[in-house]
Amino acid sequence: MSLRALRQPTLAAILGVGALLLVAGCAPASTAQPAPAPESPTAPAPTVEPTAEPEPEPSFDASARSIDDPDSIWVVSNKLRPLDPADFAPDDLVIPENVENEWGQPLRRPAARAVEKLVAAAERAGHGLWIISAYRDYGTQQSLYDGYVARDGRDAADTYSARPGHSEHQTGLAVDLDDHGDCYLAACFGETPAGAWIAEHAQEHGFVIRYPEGSEEITGFTYEPWHLRYVGEDLAREMHETGTETLEEFFDLPPAPGYAE
Ligand SMILES: [Zn+2]
Repeated sequence: MSLRALRQPTLAAILGVGALLLVAGCAPASTAQPAPAPESPTAPAPTVEPTAEPEPEPSFDASARSIDDPDSIWVVSNKLRPLDPADFAPDDLVIPENVENEWGQPLRRPAARAVEKLVAAAERAGHGLWIISAYRDYGTQQSLYDGYVARDGRDAADTYSARPGHSEHQTGLAVDLDDHGDCYLAACFGETPAGAWIAEHAQEHGFVIRYPEGSEEITGFTYEPWHLRYVGEDLAREMHETGTETLEEFFDLPPAPGYAE
């Protein structure tokens, strides 16, 4: 099956996900109420659309936003796609409110608002989440990466830390979460109740797990169940409904297992 075909959500998938959202209590107010009947008897009665044949779902426009512009919430940053300019810095950074934040790092405004909702929803489900890391500027990433190289060597550091100018954290759209448990920045976080909840519900708030298990050869990074990337609700939902795990696959980009040089 072609990727394009996979992107056409089936009606069953739409209804299934819709039902799931309703059960989870996170559905947007999509069931529009009909306008109240006008009081005046002379006013024409509102026309009622026939509901027997549902409108076909419009196909997703994968070119609606740029994947190259670092200011786009769809920007794809990986080892073959450095941010341009390399020292890009967003101009709408804000500190997420009502979320414990280890280093007090900000996020771009839409990502900050989304993570507030995600953490609140997790709280209602019994999972106390906090932010370990969010926006890191070029200089901070340079210091981090250099420290890892000094400690573990360049080859090892490249498997878990992005070089400056290649980090999603530099976009202001990536956030690392934790549950105060024993799997701080560890793969076992994905097996904790909090990690499992994130895997199931992140997309409802516009996030994807950017480095899924088993996709190292595509994303260039080992499994990071704690690292969420904000892409907006439309794209996150589309990736979820089509079962597409990585941005590289969704946008038909080449795998990026390593740096070009
Ligand atoms: Zn991260």
